[in-house]
Amino acid sequence: MTSISMPATDSQPTPAEYLSEAVALATDNVRNAGGPFGAIVVSADGRVFEGVNRVTANLDPSAHAEVTAIRNACRELGTFDLTGATLYTSCEPCPMCLATSLWARIDRVYFAADRHDAADAGFDDAVFYRYFEGGPDDRAIMPVSSASLSADERVAPFTEWNATAERTEY
Ligand SMILES: [Zn+2]
Repeated sequence: MTSISMPATDSQPTPAEYLSEAVALATDNVRNAGGPFGAIVVSADGRVFEGVNRVTANLDPSAHAEVTAIRNACRELGTFDLTGATLYTSCEPCPMCLATSLWARIDRVYFAADRHDAADAGFDDAVFYRYFEGGPDDRAIMPVSSASLSADERVAPFTEWNATAERTEY
């Protein structure tokens, strides 16, 4: 068994270096009519994909930096599965971005500013965290409930899915 230690100059950027890059993207994005958020996805083989917040620019509430970086990585890599990738983001991911990272099978997430820094700057991250982590009072801003359909009707899409042989599992 051999062990090779690489010279420091050949090593990958550190998490702090990727985070600095994400923070710089976020700051630049403010000067480009975007929100103050930037993110980087580094794939398992070390490729780097950037994303910035384009919510107001694109009229897209889901265009958070992390989601945008994940979309860019998936499109460029031709996959919906980012297993082995790491997400670096200028601010602690909101619940949507965390869920998107889970669906994308991201391995690990690093952030710079936290949810309280975001709240201090006027963003709703802390409120949305309370929605998921808190009690019924915290969820009053958007009630979610089922409504009565027959059992057959409500599971019809799943019935169709399971009857379709050529489906792509994910
Ligand atoms: Zn987000």
